[in-house]
Amino acid sequence: MSRPYDELLSRAQTGIQKISTKSSLNRLELPEPQVIWVGKKTILRNYAEFPKLFRRDPDRVLMYLAKELATAASIDGERAIFIGRKDKASFMQLFQKYMQDNVTCPVCGSPDTHIETVSRLHFRVCEACGARSAAKVN
Ligand SMILES: [Zn+2]
Repeated sequence: MSRPYDELLSRAQTGIQKISTKSSLNRLELPEPQVIWVGKKTILRNYAEFPKLFRRDPDRVLMYLAKELATAASIDGERAIFIGRKDKASFMQLFQKYMQDNVTCPVCGSPDTHIETVSRLHFRVCEACGARSAAKVN
């Protein structure tokens, strides 16, 4: 049996590498999540950077994280506070997934997209190539 997912992944990675050598503007560099634990809470100190980078509503992004981490979360200025101890790697993974599912254009790889909602369906519309593709925003 072939492994189409792996193939897809390596193809996607090759694509990303190509794009990034051509123009660094086409790639979002995710900041490292700054995580601290206070009691049973996790504070993501630089939360605000992520929705800003994605150009998405901070509340929406937080809802996504809370859902994926199966916990409650709230925004406190630049920070986000999560109930329970979550590690940096989980945030990194989720932000990457969010980017892949909701931000990056699957056609040209540009992160310059915005969300359009039509009859309750979400689409990311690419401002670089004009492609419209499904988004999995919650
Ligand atoms: Zn595009």
